[in-house]
Amino acid sequence: MNVDMTKTKEYYAAIDNSELCDCSYCRNYRLQIKSAYPEVAEYLASLGVHIQKPFETSPLEPDENGMLEYCGCQYIVFGNCEPEYHHRIGDVEFRIATSYPSTGIEQEHFVLELFPVRLKFV
Ligand SMILES: [Zn+2]
Repeated sequence: MNVDMTKTKEYYAAIDNSELCDCSYCRNYRLQIKSAYPEVAEYLASLGVHIQKPFETSPLEPDENGMLEYCGCQYIVFGNCEPEYHHRIGDVEFRIATSYPSTGIEQEHFVLELFPVRLKFV
């Protein structure tokens, strides 16, 4: 993995909270992800990625215990990465996303995907 930290940090710094998805699942994610998965947040931060500013999340329906699983959380990273990249922190797996909406970014970048994430739906 060859991350352009400067560009990645600039990208996340430029995202205003008002530009982020306002649906209840995304708000739930932003509210809890950092405290629920501190080691994941730390790893992403080491790449210049802001954990509370995902590009895309894929939430499932909350279960009967009020737990909500996100089966994919995607982040934009500037630079390049080998397709076989794989990382794991506890139960959370990281890989290169192959399916995601158009990022509209012209500079070299890739989309990092992590899963699964389980949070209480509040
Ligand atoms: Zn959303």
